[in-house]
Amino acid sequence: MNTNAIKSKTPTNHTLIDIGVNLTNKRFDKDREAVLTRAQSSGVAGLLITGTSVMESKKALGLCQQYQASFPDFLYSTAGVHPHDADNVADDYIEQLKQLARQPQVKAIGECGLDFNRNFSAPTQQVKVFTEQVALAADLNMPLFLHQRDAFEPWFDILSPYQGKVPAMVAHCFTGDKNELMQCLAADMYIGITGWLCDERRGQTLRDIVSLIPLNRLFIETDAPYLTPRTIRPKPKSSRNEPSYLTFIIKELANITGLDPKDIAWQTSRNSETVFDFPTT
Ligand SMILES: [Zn+2]
Repeated sequence: MNTNAIKSKTPTNHTLIDIGVNLTNKRFDKDREAVLTRAQSSGVAGLLITGTSVMESKKALGLCQQYQASFPDFLYSTAGVHPHDADNVADDYIEQLKQLARQPQVKAIGECGLDFNRNFSAPTQQVKVFTEQVALAADLNMPLFLHQRDAFEPWFDILSPYQGKVPAMVAHCFTGDKNELMQCLAADMYIGITGWLCDERRGQTLRDIVSLIPLNRLFIETDAPYLTPRTIRPKPKSSRNEPSYLTFIIKELANITGLDPKDIAWQTSRNSETVFDFPTT
């Protein structure tokens, strides 16, 4: 009997995948293992650890390797340079990312993109480093894990020629407007939704348009330790977000869209298998 076939037809709550976790962050140094255990107890079946520089991407991969024995097939990572770090890249950073991407745990190139909100790196350098990573993803035939803030048009223009030339583009932590969402969907992008959705003040635009995202284009992510959902009850003592809170994002998504949380969990997990090659849960 093919139990997998039956399993895949039976949505359960135990198939959540958090595709955006900054698990290398020092705010997890004291209790990383407990955070992972709590994630599993909450039904999270896998995490994609975000790499934001060559060094952080190495650390992210290191965590996957370190916890492989105690948390088998649970941790995967990305390799890339965040726009904030674009000014600091070494001459051979693309070669270093390429080496990292050869490791089986590394599932995407990123987090990369443009951030003209605070310009921690010079915009011209951001464009250069982003463009080079997009080309790298095409070269390696790997998905892109994408960041964008206050830079939609140049960001989209860099990505457009690569539509169909990379296996997938994932607009992580989407906070744009309806017009931007429709452009992303028309370009076959996937959309990552965070706890931004749970904020009735600054998240209102997202709350108004989130129902327009087809389930087969949707991802859920905490972006922990950032963006703690404001809907957690009772309110946690710490402001630190963690993957176990992914359930609150699902709950809010279900409230707004009227969808069954089980269906959201099931389909977003299928998307993780398709895009990031997560093992079937
Ligand atoms: Zn980001």
